[in-house]
Amino acid sequence: MKSVFLIEPGRMELRETPVPEPGLGELVIKVDTALTCGTDLKAFRRGHPKMPMPTPFGHEFSGTIADAGSSVNGWREGDAIMGVHTAPCGNCYYCRRQLENLCPVTMATMLMGAYAEYIKIPRRVVELNTFHKPTSLSYAEAAILEPLACVVHGMSELKIRSDDTVLIIGSGAIGLLHILMAKFRQPGKIIVAGKHGGRLKLARSLGADEIIDSASGDLVETVRDLTDGYGADWVFECTGRPAVWQQSVDLAARGGTVILFGGCPKGTVLSFDTYKLHYDQISLRGPFHFAPRDVAAAHKLLAESQIDVSSLISGKFPLAKLHEAFDLLMEGEGVKYAIQP
Ligand SMILES: [Zn+2]
Ligand SMILES: [Zn+2]
Repeated sequence: MKSVFLIEPGRMELRETPVPEPGLGELVIKVDTALTCGTDLKAFRRGHPKMPMPTPFGHEFSGTIADAGSSVNGWREGDAIMGVHTAPCGNCYYCRRQLENLCPVTMATMLMGAYAEYIKIPRRVVELNTFHKPTSLSYAEAAILEPLACVVHGMSELKIRSDDTVLIIGSGAIGLLHILMAKFRQPGKIIVAGKHGGRLKLARSLGADEIIDSASGDLVETVRDLTDGYGADWVFECTGRPAVWQQSVDLAARGGTVILFGGCPKGTVLSFDTYKLHYDQISLRGPFHFAPRDVAAAHKLLAESQIDVSSLISGKFPLAKLHEAFDLLMEGEGVKYAIQP
């Protein structure tokens, strides 16, 4: 089968590899759609601490069961399936505290290789984090399950009020998914700051009340102007850029919360004004990844058509032209591309 490997930052290769065979409790999926993701783009640009190279590439997928192996309950060949690429162990220190997203097994056994004709799903993932894809949902929409689960996780415990201002910084897929999820909470106002005109337009159509081109003018000043001088009650940092992390604290209202969603490179150190953090009572949160309950919640949102993610899919490419999709993403064109082997 054909499978794309990331050889080193900036270089991918289409390789011929054997079609995987399922072991006990495992499934082999014929990939219908794999989606490009900001994490993949990051790995392609500068490498990734969780992806030693060369590595099979891609982690957001949907497809049909090609081989159900043995002892897999509830799945038959030909079934349409959606899922994510990790699952926790269920009984470590973190799992016992419902912090399954921090379970060391989750990251250590992360499944890569969705940019391929077939992918084998390990037993724990099959048991905890796979779902039947309803026919109402396209394969590309179904493959959004993973980033949506991350956003569901990051927002899960936030008590957003109806008169709160939500500021989302970043207009990539994660920023846009934050708009869709924030809309459920019906805050007073959703402001989105981003860099790319096309994506900001999309942000508006998905429900942003105000959009700010962050390349023009002073963001802190603009946000103050839009919030009667208070700042935003909720600031979602969705870029993974240290300068934006730094600025996020200044964008928050007194008593506000900053959600630092986008991961920065290891070793990044920032300093914050302690006076501001303490006397303005700013809370910082750094949500990471998701727990099975977040995946289930994300699946429900998609399967019951509670949110419409179709506009986040900007185009389609065959496997052999994956690099063209990455070229577009590097230019800030489009949000997510459907890669269809
Ligand atoms: Zn992803
Ligand atoms: Zn665990």
